[in-house]
This record gives sequence, structure tokens and C-alpha cells, in this order.
Amino acid sequence: MNILILGSGGREHAFAWKIAQSPLCDALFVAPGNAGTASVATNVDLSFNDFEGIASLISEKRIELVLVGPEEPLVNGIIDFLQAKPELSHVRLIGPDQTGAQLEGSKDFSKNFMQTYGIPTASYGTFTAETLDEGLAYLDAHPLPIVLKADGLAAGKGVIIAETHEEAKLCLREMLVDGKFGEAGNKVVIEQFLKGIELSVFVLTDGEHYKILPEAKDYKRIGENDTGLNTGGMGAVSPVIFADSNFLRKVEEKVVKPTLAGLKAEGIKYVGFIFIGLMNVKSEPYVIEYNVRMGDPETEVVLPRIQSDLVTLLTAAAKGTLQDTTLTISPQVAVTTVVVSGGYPGDYEKGKTIAYTDKVEDVVVFHAGTAFNGNTEVVTNGGRVLVLTGIANSLENAVHKSQRAAQTVQFEGKYYRHDIGLDLLRLKD
Ligand code: ATP
Repeated sequence: MNILILGSGGREHAFAWKIAQSPLCDALFVAPGNAGTASVATNVDLSFNDFEGIASLISEKRIELVLVGPEEPLVNGIIDFLQAKPELSHVRLIGPDQTGAQLEGSKDFSKNFMQTYGIPTASYGTFTAETLDEGLAYLDAHPLPIVLKADGLAAGKGVIIAETHEEAKLCLREMLVDGKFGEAGNKVVIEQFLKGIELSVFVLTDGEHYKILPEAKDYKRIGENDTGLNTGGMGAVSPVIFADSNFLRKVEEKVVKPTLAGLKAEGIKYVGFIFIGLMNVKSEPYVIEYNVRMGDPETEVVLPRIQSDLVTLLTAAAKGTLQDTTLTISPQVAVTTVVVSGGYPGDYEKGKTIAYTDKVEDVVVFHAGTAFNGNTEVVTNGGRVLVLTGIANSLENAVHKSQRAAQTVQFEGKYYRHDIGLDLLRLKD
């Protein structure tokens, strides 16, 4: 089978790495891909926002399975676009249509959805410029800290945790009146602050049946001990020690099942991944957010723990036969460290020569922002550059392997966090 992955990050390299191992995969293409995906697949220089170009590519390369990595094309309706082409009716697509993608594309939609289907989440109100005064009164009436979220996609920057009512009111005005996040901030969700430990659970569904993939914890802040600006993610760990079987059972019963039942009730035929961002509040799960695709860098610790053939699972998801498959998960621990360009998540330079080895046992090197300079030289091409996953029988050893690998990577200005997984090691003691 010929397979196409859309995207260019570490997540897409991890998918390509796993799919390339499948005997069912004849030819693998990634659009646009990076220097890492080129080692396991054929890169096609095409933006994932070029829907017509992608449709032509699918026909030309006789693609039978398409996996959409990032949220942007999903929210912009790539699945609907491809489904509307009669000549592509045989192609299996992994990703929700535009209606389903609203679970991520609109926080107001997802909060409403959770409320309607009884899924535990923080209490909230949604406000627009017309209801600004009600929003300000809502802020006054609720305790601090309080969370404000731009309704639409804002690349992880549209969430503000306000410590004072003044700050909260200023933020609300900035979003609704001054257009701080553009259209994404035309509606603002104000919600209760949840105090707990965060983790993410991932589901693959065919719309009817589901498989729960390994859970993960990610590290969003640039600085050690979770300080400084938010990033796309500086590291991740799977499994998550505090997510015991009792907690995960609650997630399945109180979150996963009602989410899938809700999607069905809404008439949404959802095929693909659901990333459920959770807060563990005194051993009870609360949903912080849904994403309609896998996480990055969580994918880089989740996929190495999946022992089953991924193409079998994806094909079954697209065909509606996920119940006939088995998902085997390795008990090993995977820890990943992201090596980033100096200055990230602010301004940074590109084009720095990278020296690294991908020949270390139990370490998988995933590329994120990399490109070729000429035929063989690999250079930096983004904020997050390499994602180094260590796999071991214990958390200690997996942390060690990932960190050692990060240490040996060389390029001018490189930075990485040295504390990935250390909080979980402390919890263990
Ligand atoms: P990302 O792209 O990073 O996933 P996002 O823009 O989709 O972010 P959320 O995931 O909803 O936004 O929120 C970002 C982060 O803010 C969460 O990971 C969490 O740490 C924090 N956060 C969000 N909502 C709450 C809440 N109600 N209580 C406490 N913390 C919260």
C-alpha cells in the first residue's frame, strides 16, 4: 500500500519511522517532510495547505492511505475536500472532517460539547465583544487564578492564566476589543483554574470503536522546572507514573466513552486520533482540551511503545473495523528530549550545521526543524530541531539515554532542558 503523511515535524518523522516498519507499506511519502523523514520516506515539496496539490499527489502516486499530522489542514477542511473528490473515494483518510475538527478549532464548541455530554471539565462562560460587560462581571464574580482562552487556534499562545482581576480584565479587553489574537479571539472562554497534574491520553477511533494508546506527559515551558515561555513542547514521557490503572479506567468511563458517544450523537463520523489533555485533580480526570491529532513531542514517546503494526490499526480505523485488531503496548519507558535553536520560542537563526549520531542503541533520533543543505549536510530549519527518544526498562535509564543523546548533538546555539522526567522520578521516590 502507498501511504502519504502530511506534515513536517517530529511527530511526522515518528509516524514515518513507525509506518516504514510495516510490511503493508510499499511506498511512503511525506509532504513536505524534513531531513529525517527523507531517510525512511520520499519527501514531496508540497505544503499541507495546498489541498489541490495534495489531491493530485494522491492520484499520481496511487496513495491509498493518508494520515494528516497537524491540526491546521484538518480545521481548514482537508478531509471534506478530499472526500468530495469522486476519483479519491477509495482512499482511506485518517483525520476528522471540519465539523469534528472543531473539537480543537473552537474552544467554545469543545466546552459546549463537554457540557452537553457530561464530560468533566472546568466550569466556564463564553463572551464576545457584544457581551464584554457580562464577561467583566463574570471575572469579578469568580475566584483567582482564572483562565482566559481565545476561542480559535492560536498556536498555544491564546491561553492566559490571570493572577489578578485587573490582569484578567485587561486580557479580556485586549482579546475582544483590541483583537489581540485576531479572529481567534473574537470569542473568549473564561474558565475555572484547575489545580492538579497534567497528562495526555490518546485515542484512535473508527467512529464506533476505539483503542486507547499509551498516555504521556509533556513539558511545555522553555525553562527548567517549568518556567519561562510556553513552547510547542520541550520533552515528553510515557508511561506516566501517577496515571495508575484506576485513574485510566476513570478516563475511559468518564471521558473517552462519553466523548465518542457525543460525537455520534452530533452526527460526526470521526476517524482518527483524539488527544485528550487532562488534569488529574485529586485522582479525578478533568478535560483541559481536545486536539484532533496526535501531540508533538508526545507521538515520539507513544509510537515507540506501540508494538502492533500501525498500518493495520490505521487501515482498520478508516474501514470501521478497529474492533478486529489488537493493540500491544510495550511496558518499557520512553523519554524524549527536544533540542531547540538558541532564542526559541522567540527569534532564532536557521541554517546551522548539525552533528549527531543515530546509531546509539535504544535511542531514536526524530527530526523536527531540519533540512538538507546540498545533498547530505543537515542544518537547522526551525525552533525545535531534533527530538531524542530514549527507551529503557526504567524511567531513570530512559531519562539518562535521552539526555545523553541530547548532550551529544551539536549545533551553534543549541539548548535543551535537563529536567525532563525528573519530576516523575521524584514522585516515584
Ligand atoms: P496547546 O497548544 O499548548 O495545547 P492550547 O492553546 O490548545 O494549548 P490549552 O491546552 O487549553 O490551550 O491550555 C494551555 C495550557 O494552559 C494547558 O496545557 C494547561 O497547562 C493550562 N491550562 C489550560 N486550562 C487550564 C485550567 N482550566 N486550569 C489550569 N490550567 C489550565
